[in-house]
Amino acid sequence: MVSQEATRRAAQLRKQIAEYDYWYYVKDAPRVPDAEYDKLFRELQALEAQHPGLLSADSPTQRVGGKVLDGFAPVRHALPMLSIRTETDTESSGATNFDTRVRNALGSADEIEYACELKFDGLAINLRYEHGVLVQAATRGDGETGEDVTQNVRTIHCIPLHLKGCDAEVLEVRGEVYMSRKDFNRYNEKQRELGLPTLVNPRNGAAGSIRQLDPTLAAKRPLSFFAYGLGEVRGWDLPATHSAILDGLQALGVPVCTDRAVVQGAQALAEFHRNIAAKRDALPFDIDGVVYKVNSLALQKKLGFVSREPRWAVAHKYPAEEQLTVLRDIEVQVGRTGKLTPVAKLEPVFVGGTTVSNATLHNEDEIRRKDVHIGDTVIVRRAGDVIPEVVGVLQERRPAGARPFVMPALCPVCGSKVVREEGEAAARCTGGLFCPAQRKQAILHFAGRRAMDIEGLGDKLVDQLVDGNVIRNLADLYDRNIINLQTLAGLERMAEKSAQNIVDALEESKHTTLGRFIFALGIRNVGESTAKDLARHFGKLDAIMQAGTEQLLAVPDVGPIVAQSIVDFFGETHNIEVVQQLRERGVHWEEHEGVSNQVLPLSGKTFVLTGTLASMGRDEAKSRLEALGAKVAGSVSKKTDCVVAGEEAGSKLIRAQELNVPVWNEAELIQQLKECEKS
Ligand code: NAD
Repeated sequence: MVSQEATRRAAQLRKQIAEYDYWYYVKDAPRVPDAEYDKLFRELQALEAQHPGLLSADSPTQRVGGKVLDGFAPVRHALPMLSIRTETDTESSGATNFDTRVRNALGSADEIEYACELKFDGLAINLRYEHGVLVQAATRGDGETGEDVTQNVRTIHCIPLHLKGCDAEVLEVRGEVYMSRKDFNRYNEKQRELGLPTLVNPRNGAAGSIRQLDPTLAAKRPLSFFAYGLGEVRGWDLPATHSAILDGLQALGVPVCTDRAVVQGAQALAEFHRNIAAKRDALPFDIDGVVYKVNSLALQKKLGFVSREPRWAVAHKYPAEEQLTVLRDIEVQVGRTGKLTPVAKLEPVFVGGTTVSNATLHNEDEIRRKDVHIGDTVIVRRAGDVIPEVVGVLQERRPAGARPFVMPALCPVCGSKVVREEGEAAARCTGGLFCPAQRKQAILHFAGRRAMDIEGLGDKLVDQLVDGNVIRNLADLYDRNIINLQTLAGLERMAEKSAQNIVDALEESKHTTLGRFIFALGIRNVGESTAKDLARHFGKLDAIMQAGTEQLLAVPDVGPIVAQSIVDFFGETHNIEVVQQLRERGVHWEEHEGVSNQVLPLSGKTFVLTGTLASMGRDEAKSRLEALGAKVAGSVSKKTDCVVAGEEAGSKLIRAQELNVPVWNEAELIQQLKECEKS
């Protein structure tokens, strides 16, 4: 007799699992980490084992989870594609559990030979070759029926379209399509730059692209493949062992992972598990465990299957690379280039083999796109050697007091203004020279060959000077109380001769050019040639520092983004102070009048445009007048020198007449422009 409580719980679990299956298998967008799903799945398995009356054929524990998506032709598998039983126990008991089950079932006291492989975290695919030619590729689906994804699979470069020297009537190769960690990270970085949604993990990346209806989109996401077994075979001599099958496939040109072994007995299985665990982070792709398979095909046949799993194989898992935890707070970190990165402060959680309490949230847009609130239950991923990241949120677990994140307006390290340029995903601190977080980078750039050219001031020395708090800003470099033979000689690997060379190089660098100095300041978006253009145009540093966006835009090749970066940089008092100190300590260059101060034909004249100009737009008229030195204002006053009145001019024309301001019609404007432009 099954208790009401057990029946109710089983129904609840099945409903929840079905919901998670839908998001995972149909949408390729999991709602919870696998570890969370597996917990529910195991609870249901345990309930059904305890109360066999609860078992039904449609229980998720009795079938393989996938579904066939509309839009793909269904493919009935010649041999079902099954799942694998999972062991989550420690390395030794997980291995012994399996070995004991196998030996009991075979009634064998002898050590069994096993083939050990990696458990790739991707999507199972059946590749059907007829007479050596790839004729069809299908997903696992519900195990009986999969989806025809031949078009998309053909875009995977490492999958051979022809097998080398194989004329078997039918050879079905089974394996895993996966996305390497490098490809996954690269893809996500690009998406982030474009402000587009990112992939949660490489598995969903692989599954999502293989089950993409448009093969050109599928081809854009780089995928790879490893074979791990066979489906239907006709006309190919089967060897006696599983490992020999993989060797055979490799010889046909099919990719097979080299991290595999043939071992005897349970202890060797545990050792394989341990060895792979040690190198898991360094692997170029995600694995969620290792797989042990009885190597002899004859013994495999004897062992057979239970419901959805073969008795001769087991997946021995590793700690999950995704876990749930609570986001306690979001802190903002400032990187070497001034980039602000929001960092999640987490309730410590064991993920990917270590305890994680910080994870990156990348940038403000990503936080918004994922709708992350402080207080949320979030999915944290730590895989390989990349920094842990928050990849998702469980909206349904959001507590009442959860609050959204706001990017600070001032740099948390130096208090300078934070800006975010148009089209840029990252917010940045404008503190440049002043911000300690950016100090090293700023000094190295300043000393560079194309900037102040301070020979000998490289990485190692800058590290020591900044970490030891010897210098706090660029100007300190030229303060002889701070940098002198004594202070330098006290540093690691600094002989007297080298110290003297540095002092000399610093002294020599003081005499520079305005272009080099501007470039050396490391103003965002101001490269070497823009710096030279600015120097040529303005001639004097003060003129550049005081220039507004409009004046900066008059410099050839300076667009709105560059102009804004310059205005922001000199808008920071900290930066101005450093520049001043540098000059006080002897950094100098020759100045000249600059192109901008040359007297142009309309310099000092203020124009107002009104009405419609038939031969040119108002914008064109404005920029031609400005190029000749005129200022173009929006309203008429006593100070206006001339009003240009086109067709249907209104109140501005009346006002000009009232104030006796000269008025030109369009023909007069064109004639004056022509004359001035000639001169
Ligand atoms: P599985 O993916 O754990 O194991 C079976 C699969 O392993 C095979 O189909 C095959 O593709 C793959 N595999 C990789 N390497 C292999 C190798 N060397 N030899 C043989 N097979 C290899 O089991 P499953 O039945 O496909 O699905 C269950 C998994 O899916 C669980 O890990 C579960 O957490 C996850 N899941 C998660 C959610 C969620 O919401 N997060 C929902 C459903 C399922």
